[in-house]
Amino acid sequence: MTRVTLEGVSKVYNDAQGTERAVDDLNMTIGDGQFAVIVGPSGCGKTTTLRMIAGLETVTEGTINIGDREVQDLAPAERNVAMVFQNYALYPSMTGRENMAYGLKHAGGMSKDERDEHVTEMAELLEITDILDDTPDEMSGGQKQRVALGRAIVREPDVFLLDEPLSNLDAKLRSEMRRELQRIHRDLDITTIYVTHDQKEAMTMSDRIAILNDGRLQQAASPEEAYTQPANRFVGEFLGSPSMNTVERSVDGETVSLFGQELGTIDSTGADGRVRNVVFGLRPEDIVVGESRDLSATASVTEVEYQGDGNFLFLSVENTDMTVRAPASVRPSPGDLVTAGIDRANVYLFDADSGEAIS
Ligand code: ATP
Repeated sequence: MTRVTLEGVSKVYNDAQGTERAVDDLNMTIGDGQFAVIVGPSGCGKTTTLRMIAGLETVTEGTINIGDREVQDLAPAERNVAMVFQNYALYPSMTGRENMAYGLKHAGGMSKDERDEHVTEMAELLEITDILDDTPDEMSGGQKQRVALGRAIVREPDVFLLDEPLSNLDAKLRSEMRRELQRIHRDLDITTIYVTHDQKEAMTMSDRIAILNDGRLQQAASPEEAYTQPANRFVGEFLGSPSMNTVERSVDGETVSLFGQELGTIDSTGADGRVRNVVFGLRPEDIVVGESRDLSATASVTEVEYQGDGNFLFLSVENTDMTVRAPASVRPSPGDLVTAGIDRANVYLFDADSGEAIS
């Protein structure tokens, strides 16, 4: 059983610039054999979290368990984890085969023939048998990435850690490698933690995503749950492209209105008795142009961006800018007045002060 559990994990960096809490009270469980993705914007603490699990960074507070062992004070080699980095970190003078066998050789306990057999087996899985005698400078980016993956997996680690492993590949190769990684994960069943800043990659790759911001966990859920039931405004805006439109409004009594229509009533007083403001969230694909819905308004078209399979429309609705993802058949011109509508069920509501979702 190789479950990874983080309990109250924090990381504080102290350097000449001062003190920085890069990871703050992180609680997370990655189940045995699960493929989990940690996602968040640059600087949110993803790499630091992964490096603490690998043992490449000390833990300031909290505990990390791999299986039934508490590991935060163990050396990296004692944790039986393997990490793949963004820049591959291959040895330039060694062939693909030597790069892959290096860790095995270093660990000892295997004859040369056994090592060769392991490497060949893994190379077959990764479909790189034909480049095993090449050195990294003779390989393409995708091939280097496969050798780096092979070098990590060949040691049969309990946990496989990947830090933005596909970011140096072009878009086509990246999507190919995404599927490849999922296939490898299915074949080997190793508990895998994958870090990316790319929300699309996170949503497509795993059945479980953990969204971080500012060192704090915002939500851990299935991609579908995080997308359709964001825990807070940050998650709502972070997932989805183009981003969720947001409109801040004050609450009149207990009534919230959008586009001049009442949306419902909420408890409008905070703990201090003040009326609180709300933020409406409207996803670009939920706004319909040219038809009335539960809530509708007249909008003026400011810009139209052709996307091939559809159009992005930039609208001004009651002095608020909105982006709409429209089908190819809906292609108004800048300056046109159109009807924009949305169903009540598709309107997200957040507390403007705390950012928390209001149900
Ligand atoms: P990116 O996607 O840009 O790699 P990230 O989400 O992986 O970002 P981290 O690299 O974990 O974020 O960094 C989190 C915060 O900790 C950042 O503010 C960063 O500047 C800071 N940080 C990271 N490493 C160190 C270090 N060795 N010393 C001081 N501060 C650091």
